Amino acid sequence: MAQNNDTFRDFGLDTRLVRALDHQGLETPTEIQLKAIPVVLAGHDLLASSKTGSGKTLAYLLPALQRLMKSRALSKRDPRALILAPTRELARQVYVQLRSLAGSSFNIALLLGGENFNDQLKSLRRQPDVIVATPGRLANHLDTRSLMLNGLELLILDEADRMLDLGFAPQLERIHRAADHRRRQTLMFSATLDHAEANTMAATLLKSPKRVAVGEAHAEHQDIEQRFVLGDHLDHKQALLEHLLANESYQQAIIFTATRADTERLAGHLQQQGLATAALHGDMSQAERNRIMDAFARGQHKVLITTDVASRGLDLLQVSLVINFDMPKQPEEYVHRIGRTGRAGASGTAVSLVGPRDWDAFKRVEKFLQRAVSFTEIEGLPGKFKGLRPPARKHGFKGKPGDKPGTVQGKSHKPGAKKPGRKPAPKRPKGFTGQGLGPAAGAGDDGMAPLKRKKPKPEQE
Ligand code: AMP
Repeated sequence: MAQNNDTFRDFGLDTRLVRALDHQGLETPTEIQLKAIPVVLAGHDLLASSKTGSGKTLAYLLPALQRLMKSRALSKRDPRALILAPTRELARQVYVQLRSLAGSSFNIALLLGGENFNDQLKSLRRQPDVIVATPGRLANHLDTRSLMLNGLELLILDEADRMLDLGFAPQLERIHRAADHRRRQTLMFSATLDHAEANTMAATLLKSPKRVAVGEAHAEHQDIEQRFVLGDHLDHKQALLEHLLANESYQQAIIFTATRADTERLAGHLQQQGLATAALHGDMSQAERNRIMDAFARGQHKVLITTDVASRGLDLLQVSLVINFDMPKQPEEYVHRIGRTGRAGASGTAVSLVGPRDWDAFKRVEKFLQRAVSFTEIEGLPGKFKGLRPPARKHGFKGKPGDKPGTVQGKSHKPGAKKPGRKPAPKRPKGFTGQGLGPAAGAGDDGMAPLKRKKPKPEQE
């Protein structure tokens, strides 16, 4: 097994691969590549975690292609390798990277949900060596028997945790059962190895896997400056957003919102202000999504406003600013969102706007980051919202009907204010280090205007 490699050449890769890497100016492997490539080259199954943007795609593509180049196909008819990715955008990106490495050595097919089934049948009739696909569509092709996987040599799951979160477990099991060659090698990549369902799936899919963990998802992104700004309501958040877009220096920015409607609304608003902005969300047709992503990747838009559709895997090197207009529901998603910047060693900035509705999600992110987070204030745009207090522990909740336990709803909640039958409110929790937030933070500060929109509809891929 190769060890202590300084360059890609030291892995003993086929000259076609080394040339392709040279051509792309890639010489030194990243940490995940250093650790994963020798394991895969030695023929082991692999369960790997790697933070977003760390070079994980090449960590599996290079040894996979090496295996395909150096060994004879197990079957003339069936594909030799199958790479599955959770979203169409990520699958497309993997496909592009694969094409640039493989050149004309292999016939490669891309099978995505939402695209023409008959066109895909035609490409399957050309008996591709390698298929990149989203799991749902691949399982459809198995159901219609338009492809067989009995000769499959390599099964690769990119962002397996995300595929499971999206409910693709039955499809993955279906694919696993169809790809039943005893010499199949399986590689599974996940943002974290702590994902219970991913571990269960790994036990089903992998044989005596080697585990490689590099920078788990909760690890800090060293290259990304993370800032948190308190925001009152929609209009205040919008003013903060405009200020950030006007004053931060960035090449391109991605703004994440909780709802599809907000992507459109904000994009329209910024366009009116002369900023080249596009909206992207799951209600759009795949063709439209592709067109927008291509235009953004080519630099035609300066700002992309999206839901979590674009939070994973996408490799957009010009993005140096990420703004969370709304906090994501899950902390892992926060890590993926901010990972859209600071790619491949570049530096980036991630600013999160935290309003009353984001508070619980913000606290989860703070816990996940395992550090106290402080807020910055934007000059000229101070907010009234100062955060919510944690729920009082030892008492039953005695608020008015409609009040939420633990939220600061009115002046009667002043910390320290003695009330008959109530102990003083608990102190601020450790880590609550909001700038300018004194012990009375949030208390009696009920100036929060209600949000002027319906309950957010979560985005799904
Ligand atoms: P990934 O984590 O696979 O999405 O890769 C993130 C970015 O890092 C992509 O733009 C890759 O082209 C780039 N990259 C991957 N491996 C290397 C490397 N060894 N040296 C420099 N950049 C790399």
